[in-house]
Amino acid sequence: MPANPANITRLVEKVQAGARLDATEALELYRSAPTAVLGALADGIRARKHPEGLVTYIIDRNVNYTNVCVAKCNFCAFYREVGSPDGYVLGFDELFRKIDETVAVGGVQLLLQGGHNPDLPLSWYEDLFRAVKERYPSFKLHALSPPEVIHLSRLSQLPVPEVIDRLIAAGLDSIPGGGAEILVDRVRKLLHCYGKATADEWLDVMRHAHRAGLRTTATMMYGTVETDGERIEHMMRLRDLQDETGGFTAFITWSYQPDHTELSGTEATGVDYLRTLAIARIVLDNFDNLQASWVTQGGKVGQLSLAYGANDMGSVMIEENVVRAAGASYCMDELEIVRNIEDAGFAAKRRNMHYEVLGDPIFRERDVPRMLELATAREAGDTHVPDELRFYPARSRAGKAARP
Ligand code: SF4
Repeated sequence: MPANPANITRLVEKVQAGARLDATEALELYRSAPTAVLGALADGIRARKHPEGLVTYIIDRNVNYTNVCVAKCNFCAFYREVGSPDGYVLGFDELFRKIDETVAVGGVQLLLQGGHNPDLPLSWYEDLFRAVKERYPSFKLHALSPPEVIHLSRLSQLPVPEVIDRLIAAGLDSIPGGGAEILVDRVRKLLHCYGKATADEWLDVMRHAHRAGLRTTATMMYGTVETDGERIEHMMRLRDLQDETGGFTAFITWSYQPDHTELSGTEATGVDYLRTLAIARIVLDNFDNLQASWVTQGGKVGQLSLAYGANDMGSVMIEENVVRAAGASYCMDELEIVRNIEDAGFAAKRRNMHYEVLGDPIFRERDVPRMLELATAREAGDTHVPDELRFYPARSRAGKAARP
């Protein structure tokens, strides 16, 4: 149906007046408003929420501790099956080395996510977190997306709140919003990720985490099989939970990367990304922070995001494995991120996981090495098995055979 200009004008005025849109209104605006209008609305909200003209970023490292996964989502190019010769688990020493490198460039946290590996019990995670906190007391662990928490709940046969409590006791600081894809079960079934977490289950982990005092992020991966209406429904579900708990610090959306995946297909365009980011800023009126996803969109669209509702450039990536496996490998170190922020007319500030400003760019305070290439979890061809794994019971046949 063609857009009704009078309706669009009414919706634009409603957003400008600070009123909340319902799902029908949001969908009409998303589908029919000119891109520049959506951008101007989102930018206006960004400016209202962040009038000081700052754009933040965090220095952290995105580490994938294992690529072995039983979930087998059809949009994922990263995972390997149990027993695969390409499967890996990082050792504690490897992870400590990565933290040392992160701290050396001013990093403050690890974003730690991985596959659903049946041979890593809850005790492995608890021991790892404790060991990290013992060595690096002020270093933060932004770790284990909701489906990983559910996987651990099933593996250990403990309820989700108990798993969260145990992980917090071991050192967990925050939960990343990965694995949300689209929070609509029709879509999740088509993406083969309904089994790892239904929409309700994903939201429930976040609810429990917020009740336990953790702040978390929320994400959306779009561009697979969902409709525009389902993207809006996803945002509505996040908005409802945020009304209930107030526990989300930020929203991050990125487009599906199709290379080397079972699902295949084509990648969404830059305009689709900017429109989706802008409508998210409009719909998610109870979220303070929206990140630009330069890792999937590249630096230039990432910079444009700052005119379409984003107020944060996400992470200075030191390492990336998941998006790279599906064909995207953009790299920006701190200097490059700051250049993009400042050229867009903002002041660039380092932040922590709670979006509190830590200071000016670190490279202006001291010498830090340039990073012009992203590290990987493991060097290609390195298949060594960490020594400490023998202390943890394996569940899979392949795992048991490897750990007599
Ligand atoms: S997206 Fe995550 S859960 Fe799904 S197959 Fe890949 S690693 Fe496993």
